[in-house]
Amino acid sequence: MSEFDVTDVVDAPEGEEETPVPVVAVVGRPNVGKSSLVNRIIRRREAVVEDVPGVTRDRVAYDAEWQDIPFTLVDTGGWETSVSGLAAMVARQAEYAAQTADVVLFVVDATVGITDADAAVTRVLRKTNKPVVLAANKVDGQMQESDALELWNLGVGEPYTISALHGRGTGDLLDAVVEAFPEKPEPVIDQDEEAGPPRIALVGRPNVGKSSLLNRVAEEDRVVVDSVAGTTRDSVDELIDLGGKTWKFIDTAGIRRRYRALQGADYYATMRTGQALERAEVAVVLMDVSEPLAEQDIRVVEQVVEAGRGLVLAFNKWDVLDDERRYYLEKEIDRQLSRVSWAPRVNVSALTGRHMEKLVPAIETSLAGWNQRISTGQLNNWIKELVAATPPPVRGGKQPKILFATQAGARPPHFILFTTGFLEDNYRRFIERRLREDFGFEGSPVHISMRIRE
Ligand code: GDP
Repeated sequence: MSEFDVTDVVDAPEGEEETPVPVVAVVGRPNVGKSSLVNRIIRRREAVVEDVPGVTRDRVAYDAEWQDIPFTLVDTGGWETSVSGLAAMVARQAEYAAQTADVVLFVVDATVGITDADAAVTRVLRKTNKPVVLAANKVDGQMQESDALELWNLGVGEPYTISALHGRGTGDLLDAVVEAFPEKPEPVIDQDEEAGPPRIALVGRPNVGKSSLLNRVAEEDRVVVDSVAGTTRDSVDELIDLGGKTWKFIDTAGIRRRYRALQGADYYATMRTGQALERAEVAVVLMDVSEPLAEQDIRVVEQVVEAGRGLVLAFNKWDVLDDERRYYLEKEIDRQLSRVSWAPRVNVSALTGRHMEKLVPAIETSLAGWNQRISTGQLNNWIKELVAATPPPVRGGKQPKILFATQAGARPPHFILFTTGFLEDNYRRFIERRLREDFGFEGSPVHISMRIRE
C-alpha cells in the first residue's frame, strides 16, 4: 500500500471541513471507449475526442452524479506519460488513477478480449486497495454478452457489460460505482441556523466602536433579540434589518455595553471572538482609524481567516481622520493587511453614520465569494491553460504535474490539486492569485490543498 499512499491535504481548512465528493477515474487502453463512456455518464457530447494515445483532451475532470449522488469523473486518457510502450503507458495511467481516485472504473473492449495492456492495468490495480469496477464495453448484442464472460479471468470482479455508445447497461455499472464509494459521515450542520438569515460576527478589539456601530445599524425598535439556547449562557443574537434584508448579528450580548460591563472588555476581545466566528458566515472586522493599527487588530483579522469566514474590513471613526493620519493609515494597511487584499473595505463613522449604507453591499460581496463554486470542467480547463503557460517549478530534478483539480467545497472555497509531486508554496499562492483574478472569490479565504505522490 505504501507505494501508493497519498499525502493528503496541505492547508486543510479548519473546522467544518467538507468531505470532497468521491473521485472516479476511468482507465483503460486507447480505443476501448473511455471518452464515450465519460460522455454517456455526464450526458454531454462536448468531450468526445479521439481516443488516441498522446492526444491531450481539452478536459480531464467533470462533475457527474448518479441517483443524486455527486462525484468527480476523471478521464485519464489525456494524461501524457513519457513511458514508451502502450502497456507501460496505460499501466502508468492506471497507477496515477489508483493513487488519486476513490474508485477506479476500468474499461475493456469485450469484442477484443484481454490484451497485454489490459493485463498490465490489472496488475497495477490489484496492488492497490482501491475498489475497481470493471466495464466490458461494446457489448451491443447477446453474442458479445457471452464473450464478456472471459473477462472474469482478469480477476478484478464482475464484468459489467455495457454499450457506452447506446447507453446499454450503464445504469447497473453506475450503481456498482456508487456502491463502492467510501462511507461519508453525515455532515453536522445546524439545519435551523443554516436556513435562517445570514449570520454576521461584528468583531474587533475593545473601543474600536463595535457597540456604537451596532446601535447605529439597529434602530432600537427594529431589533429582535434572539436568545440562543445551548450556547454560551449569556450569548444573545440580534436580528437586524439592513438594506432591505434581515441579518443575524451573532453574540451581540458581548458587544453591547450593558452586557459587557458584566464581563469586562478584555474577556470579550479574546474568548468570544472565536465563539462568534464559529457560528458566523461572514465577519466584519472593525478597526479604529484614529490610532495606528494595533497588533490586536491584525490578530482578529487572522482569526477570521483561520476560521475560514468571509471578511469585511471596516475602518471606523473616519470622521476624525485628517490628512496626515490618512497618509499613515494607507501605509499601515499596505504593510499589515496585504495578506487580505481580497477583502472588501468600507470607511465608516458610527458617530455620523457616514457610509453605513456601504456595509451591506460589502457583506453581500463577501458572502457571495464565500459561497462561490466553479464547475470541475471549467476548473480543469482553466488549470490546464494556467499550467501550460506557467508550469510548476522543477523540484529535485522532476517536474510535478497537476493531473486534475476539483473544488471540494465552498464556505469557504476549497480546492484540491491532484499532483505527481509537491507544489511549492509560492506556486500555490500563484494559483490562488490567478483563481481570484479570473473567478473572484472576493471577500473570502480560499484554501488550496494537494494530494500528491512524491
Ligand atoms: P467597542 O468597545 O468596540 O464596542 O467600542 P464603543 O462602541 O464602546 O466605542 C468606543 C469609543 O469610541 C466610544 O467613546 C465611542 O463614542 C467612540 N466612537 C465609536 N465610533 C466612533 C466614530 O465613528 N467616531 C468617533 N469620533 N468616535 C467613535
